[in-house]
Amino acid sequence: MLKPDRFFASVERIQPPVLREMGVRALIVDLDNTLLPRDRDTVPASVREWLRAMAEDGLPVCLVSNNWHRRARETAHELGIPIVAKAIKPLPFAFLRALRILGVRPRECVVIGDQLFTDVLGGRLVGCRTVMVPPQSSHDLPHTLLLRRLESLIMGRSAADRAQEESSCG
Ligand SMILES: [Mg+2]
Repeated sequence: MLKPDRFFASVERIQPPVLREMGVRALIVDLDNTLLPRDRDTVPASVREWLRAMAEDGLPVCLVSNNWHRRARETAHELGIPIVAKAIKPLPFAFLRALRILGVRPRECVVIGDQLFTDVLGGRLVGCRTVMVPPQSSHDLPHTLLLRRLESLIMGRSAADRAQEESSCG
C-alpha cells in the first residue's frame, strides 16, 4: 500500500509510452509541489507544456488536491482541467469522483503525486496505479514536512534519490 509502481524525477519526465505500457488511459494528478511549487504562484512553463502533451495524446487529467484555497480552483481553471479540491486524501471519495469525471476504471488510471501518505496510499486504496515524484520545492506545510521525514524512514532513501536513479536508467 505504501509503495508506488514507479518513481520519476519530475512530472515532465512521465511520457505517454510509459503510461500506455502501464495500461493507463487517464491521470489523476496532485497539485501542490507536484505541478505547482509551494514557493511559487504560477505553474512552470515546462509543466504546462507537459499537460498540453498529455491532452494531445488523448490522456485526460483531473487534479485531486487537499488544498481548500480559492487559488487551487483558479489554477485548475487557468490550466483548463477539472479539479476535485478539499479532497482529504488518502480517503477514497475524491479519487472516486475524479475517476467518474475521467470515465475510466481504477486500473486504467494513474495517481501522480509527491506524497506517500496522501497520493500513493490514496491511489492504491482505490486500485489505481501510482507514480511518485519528488516535491518541486523544499517549502511545504509543517505537517507535510513531518510526514516527509516519516516517508524517508519507510522508504529507506528519499524519493528524490530513487527518481534520480530511475531517470538515469532510462
Ligand atoms: Mg503535494
